[in-house]
Amino acid sequence: MDWVQITILIISGAILLSLLIALIKGIYLSKRRFICSECNQEFYPKWYQVMFELHHFEYFRIRCPHCGKKKFHRCIDE
Ligand SMILES: [Zn+2]
Repeated sequence: MDWVQITILIISGAILLSLLIALIKGIYLSKRRFICSECNQEFYPKWYQVMFELHHFEYFRIRCPHCGKKKFHRCIDE
């Protein structure tokens, strides 16, 4: 193997690993209850909604299924 193949292997490995971590994070978070900061209704997000979303402590930037607002909503399951 030359260095080009090794570099491609490392990069694709890193991409696959980060996708796997994002998927695990998404599945884990989809089991958690969130409360909407806009309409105060509780909801469970879809795993693909939370996979790549930003978060700040227990606040996650996702779309509320009730009012459709994409804001920082709080996770109320700990
Ligand atoms: Zn809402």
